[in-house]
Amino acid sequence: MDEDKLKQFFFDILKISSISGDEKELAIYLYNFLKKMKVPVVLKDDNVIVHFKTGSDTLLHFNAHMDTVNTDPKSWDSDPLEPKEDGKKICGLGASDEKASIVSLVNTIDLLKDNPPCDLCFAFVVKEELDGSGTSSFLDLFTKKYSYKNQACVLTEPTSLKAVEQGHRGGIFFKITAKGEGGHASNPNNKNNAFLKIMKCAHILEKMDLKKYEDSILGVPTIAIGTMISSGNSPNVIPETCYMICDLRTTPAMHKDAIVIIQSAIGDLAEVTYYSKPTDPSLTGNDEVILQLVKKEANAKITVAMGADDACFYTKKGIPSVVIGPGEKSCIHKPNEFVIWEKVPLASKLYVQIAKKFAKINNNVQNETFIN
Ligand SMILES: [Zn+2]
Repeated sequence: MDEDKLKQFFFDILKISSISGDEKELAIYLYNFLKKMKVPVVLKDDNVIVHFKTGSDTLLHFNAHMDTVNTDPKSWDSDPLEPKEDGKKICGLGASDEKASIVSLVNTIDLLKDNPPCDLCFAFVVKEELDGSGTSSFLDLFTKKYSYKNQACVLTEPTSLKAVEQGHRGGIFFKITAKGEGGHASNPNNKNNAFLKIMKCAHILEKMDLKKYEDSILGVPTIAIGTMISSGNSPNVIPETCYMICDLRTTPAMHKDAIVIIQSAIGDLAEVTYYSKPTDPSLTGNDEVILQLVKKEANAKITVAMGADDACFYTKKGIPSVVIGPGEKSCIHKPNEFVIWEKVPLASKLYVQIAKKFAKINNNVQNETFIN
């Protein structure tokens, strides 16, 4: 696709608001755009899926999310839905996270559509910024319907094309609820003050030794204590209940038992429960073909992501997954988000190379097996 057409497409999708949970308009626009390119596209649960079937037992997935976070237009220098070109940059809401990736992948589809080197599946998904249910529901359906011998996934979250991420820690928001005894605040019984129990819990969490759950690649779990807190509702009444929310980032060694571990640390001071559905950790090993291949093709350094992304849904299904994309991580979820435009066609070139090499490596492996 020529660069002017690509850029026009980028401007068009930047103008369409697609805040998490409200991606329909963009999904329909993208679906129609791909339909005109005469590629096998379907629209399902607002996810837009392009699946090239060649009869190969090798499949490479690509994934980009269509949703953006919400933003306060007043904190921007100009309208976040009116893209602006400024030298090498194009500024707009979702520019780096991840509409530039959508453009790169649409261009990749265009470059590979006449002769896909193996089966390819491009998923443009909803709700990544919310709970990942877009990717999760797509993959549940997909893996029920299709099975492949060799699969891998490239997700296109922003890494400036300089880094390839092999995983991320899990995310658990947990709630600690303490119960006490109410009463008039003029005669306090501080032993049963629910707020003070929560304070004690906070101190225990602060001192917890999480190093024993360290992962050699993902690092040590962390807890951000008291990201939300609520206690009582009258200034002169001892609070009967108090709760606080904490943000725990886990490793595989801690993830499944995290609530039990936290509960046993704080004992009967309070009750620990999930605040929302946890996000699993994701890890693709150093010896995986896709990781080494992307590292080499992109000349990128291998890192891990600080936050969670949709890679965990693929790795949970046994599909090795890596993240590399054209956006700039430093400017996302902030006013005046931008992308460096030249990285968008560069990313397409890289994705095409990755697809070709991935197909070739898996074909070679099979031929060798056959000869043996
Ligand atoms: Zn993103």
